[in-house]
Amino acid sequence: MAEKITMSPSGVLQVPDNPIIPFIEGDGTGVDIWPAAKLVLDAAAKKHGKTIEWKEVLAGQKAFDETGDWLPEQTVIDFREHLIGIKGPLTTPIGGGFRSLNVALRQILDLYVCLRPVRWFEGVPSPVKHPELVDMVIFRENTEDVYAGLEVEAGTEKAEQMRSYLHDNYGWDIKEMSGIGIKPISKSGSDRLIRAAIKYALDHKRASVTMMHKGNIQKFTEGAFMKWGYQLVRDEFADVAVSWDDCGGKPEDKLLVKDAIADIIFQQVLTRPSEFDVIASTNLNGDYLSDALAAQVGGIGIAPGANINYVTGHGIFEATHGTAPKYAGLDKVNPGSVLLSGVLMFEHLGWQGAADDIIRALEATIADKVVTYDFARQMEGATEVKCSEFASAIVDRL
Ligand code: NAP
Repeated sequence: MAEKITMSPSGVLQVPDNPIIPFIEGDGTGVDIWPAAKLVLDAAAKKHGKTIEWKEVLAGQKAFDETGDWLPEQTVIDFREHLIGIKGPLTTPIGGGFRSLNVALRQILDLYVCLRPVRWFEGVPSPVKHPELVDMVIFRENTEDVYAGLEVEAGTEKAEQMRSYLHDNYGWDIKEMSGIGIKPISKSGSDRLIRAAIKYALDHKRASVTMMHKGNIQKFTEGAFMKWGYQLVRDEFADVAVSWDDCGGKPEDKLLVKDAIADIIFQQVLTRPSEFDVIASTNLNGDYLSDALAAQVGGIGIAPGANINYVTGHGIFEATHGTAPKYAGLDKVNPGSVLLSGVLMFEHLGWQGAADDIIRALEATIADKVVTYDFARQMEGATEVKCSEFASAIVDRL
């Protein structure tokens, strides 16, 4: 009998060898990449004496077609109840009442960390000379910032009211016909994100956490994010971590917590990638950086991601690319993103052996130049295989 993953009273995930894990197949290419990823995940789990009972839950187009609802209540109930789940890409409904189903799920479950590990796999075509130096883990804040969706449209009554309010009460002159957006960054939101990044860095024996921000310009939002982060290091982690200012860049055996301005970071991850390890960022900066770094190591076809609340134990692991509708059902695209999200999920569950096996088998498959179209078009002498064949080739090498 399969069992549920639970959270202990002390806040540690309790993972049985036969957990029930909800999955959303995903729209578009979801029909191709999910079965491929599942094949590999099941084979690796089995090798380590584990069996997953996958429980399909609906969201997106498939949910709408079957239930008339883009995000059925039952799906949210299942994710709440089983704590950990995985999903393929989802179509953003037009006029469906959601800005995005992904954003909705993150908000409903308060998944405040968007986790994006970025590393290079041997043999993957990359536009940079030394992709092997990129090994970073981005902790992007997932609930605040301009993503809070607090905007008014230029020329509307609300925008005019806000313009006069800001003029009368703050002396701020905003031009006529301006759209206005609000960027909230809270201490509690910043603290929990940076705390998660520091704990991750300590658990995974990483050397540093860099807080990415634009505090030189946006002092009370981005700047405060950094300031609160440094205070958190002093208040909660003084015995194991130290800020740059407090150690002059010499942390000895402690974790180094430093900061970098957002624009400079885009240069330095290219020119000095080995200086970056775990990166904690506000929402919008993290969004940009995740995709830029993914490109550095071979593109969005294989970038994994997860949305996690480390306090409640909820986590949804997800393919980071979209539904690529033109390829849907062709058994063509790279299943790497959802597969590596599954690997990230295995690591999160403490199934490191199975996770390591998949990485080794994936690297061996790419080293043999057995790849899907996206890599094949950039590799000389590659054998282009279908999505399902790529998965089978990985299983053969497990
Ligand atoms: P997309 O689906 O990510 O596709 C853009 C391009 O990325 C594709 O044309 C393809 O490039 C490449 N690509 C995507 N998936 C790939 C894979 N598995 N393997 C290899 N290459 C892959 O972005 P989009 O066309 O802008 O968005 C389509 C829909 O997806 C929209 O409805 C959007 O809202 C939604 N979306 C969902 C998510 C999510 O659920 N997380 C994220 C982003 C977008 P080539 O053409 O060069 O082959």
